[in-house]
Amino acid sequence: MHQPSTEPRRSIYYDYQVHAPWCPSAHGAQTQKPVVVVGAGPVGLVTALEVARHGVPVVVLAPELQVSEGSRAIVFTRRSMEILQQVGVAERVTQNGLPWRHGNSYFRDQRVFRMEAPHDDNDRFWPMINLQQQYVEEFLLDACAAQPLIELRWGNRVTDLVQHPDHAVLTVDTPEGPYALPSTWVVAADGARSTLRSLLDLRLEGASYEGRFVIADIRIDLPLPTERLAYFDPPWNPQNTVLMHREPRGIWRIDYQLPEGETPEQALSPESLKARINAQLAMIGFAGVPWEMDWSSVYSARTLTLPDYRCGRTLFVGDAAHLLPIFGVRGANTGFQDAQALGWRLGLVGRGLAPESLLASYTEERVAAAREIIDEAGKSTRFMTPPSRGFRLLRDAVLSLSLTEAFVRPLYHWRTSRPHEYTHSSLSAQDDDNALFAAGPARGAPPANVRLGPDDFLLDHLGGGYALLVFGALDPQVRAEVQAWRARGLLVQVLQLGGAGDGHEAHLPDPEGRARSRWGVPQDGAAYLLRPDQHVAARWVRLDAHRLRAALNQATTGVAA
Ligand SMILES: Cc1cc2nc3c(=O)[nH]c(=O)nc-3n(C[C@H](O)[C@H](O)[C@H](O)COP(=O)(O)OP(=O)(O)OC[C@H]3O[C@@H](n4cnc5c(N)ncnc54)[C@H](O)[C@@H]3O)c2cc1C
Repeated sequence: MHQPSTEPRRSIYYDYQVHAPWCPSAHGAQTQKPVVVVGAGPVGLVTALEVARHGVPVVVLAPELQVSEGSRAIVFTRRSMEILQQVGVAERVTQNGLPWRHGNSYFRDQRVFRMEAPHDDNDRFWPMINLQQQYVEEFLLDACAAQPLIELRWGNRVTDLVQHPDHAVLTVDTPEGPYALPSTWVVAADGARSTLRSLLDLRLEGASYEGRFVIADIRIDLPLPTERLAYFDPPWNPQNTVLMHREPRGIWRIDYQLPEGETPEQALSPESLKARINAQLAMIGFAGVPWEMDWSSVYSARTLTLPDYRCGRTLFVGDAAHLLPIFGVRGANTGFQDAQALGWRLGLVGRGLAPESLLASYTEERVAAAREIIDEAGKSTRFMTPPSRGFRLLRDAVLSLSLTEAFVRPLYHWRTSRPHEYTHSSLSAQDDDNALFAAGPARGAPPANVRLGPDDFLLDHLGGGYALLVFGALDPQVRAEVQAWRARGLLVQVLQLGGAGDGHEAHLPDPEGRARSRWGVPQDGAAYLLRPDQHVAARWVRLDAHRLRAALNQATTGVAA
């Protein structure tokens, strides 16, 4: 019988709330659910919110009675914020988080590189914002509680899964004992040690790295701005790397690499933590400043993914699908993109508005994204924790050279998480005018935001369905085609940008031509079709009803008409 802890977790800045378990005896026999999300981490919760936003009821299973332990993911990217905006929590993250855009890299005691992430006046969100994962989970849980289509079951742990051709049956253990839960679709959002991955005997592919890091969160008052600090080969930890990030509520994250051969137990002993944190503080000029420990953990980098995110009726997202190094803030940020990518597809399939073939494109796109990230993350991981003598020699040569040669310094700037462009997606139009645009988001790319007013941005107006962005007058036949899709139940939003608007569809003035310029619009009559996850499905210099129909057929099925 599953007995989750009822003791609130310990933290010096976060007040853990313990929820009551959901017990089957109070609810009678279980009918088949359309979607069950296994796991209430950030990725499971965003998936549930996305599926529900598309009109499909969801049950979410959480084995514990409270949110996760420790700060864990603390840096969220602009694209994550755009995704969180769609599920209604970006404002709270903005209110509580610390935005930033600069990173500093030091070799020994000298700063050798200052990174500046691009930030355009047209973007609503900063390139990065720091907030502890507990808060993000709490805000997502509040959003789930406000969504009538989501039922969250605390204290429910999955122990078995049987798959049938058209549904699956989960065995769910609770403080009262197990019950059976049938579901048409199961979302495996059960994290790095995924029970569902083991039950289905699926293997992750890729590499695990030797270097281990301690992650320590301390409360300390440091008069430093919110910027990423990376120290290579610092005098107190030679050959190794140290990272520092400011977190809200007076907390700082210090990550430091351990010398080879040291065990996690040795590394997490209070004496070891104290000595090393004091050494780092002394090195940056804050010896003797009092601090208090909140949470510590040991971490090693892995670049692993499942080769397919669908197995029968089960679809994998987040850490259950892939394990990515935290350098470059890839864990939760990549998971949010999975959640968004899967949520709308399950919504459309669940409501009978799209065939199951649409789900094939989920795994196709997101496995490709994970492989691209693994490639990039592998490079930064090898730079941070060289896996062999050869890599170390090369890394050290770059480090030494950077003291005198400016051209090598940008090598310090490892790529951070960024949205994947679905350039070869089977959902993209085959014969649009993509190649005729000189600028703007290409076919498969995520959208570009545009400031329309002091607190008004283009992406604020996207409502979760397909969106047709029309620059100029709306052709009556195109409008009739949109109406035909709407009559079938598909949400197709039309946004007319600039011009006068036709009085029927939403119209957004673009007096300064910002939207035209950012979207690379070559002439009046150009249009973009966005998928529900806002990625570009097609773009045309001139749109007609026939081309729109073909593009929507493709973007709702993954199959050319
Ligand atoms: C120590 C540590 C530090 C980290 N630091 C960073 C960082 O600095 N930056 C970064 O980007 N990422 C970091 N990460 C990674 C980040 O936390 C994850 O990428 C992120 O939480 C993934 O979200 P998820 O929802 O996929 O998985 P998780 O957050 O792990 O959530 C999984 C959920 O599934 C539940 N579950 C597990 N088994 C079952 C079961 N049998 N039945 C039902 N539910 C189940 C769990 O209780 C949990 O609710 C860190 C992770 C750890 C462990």
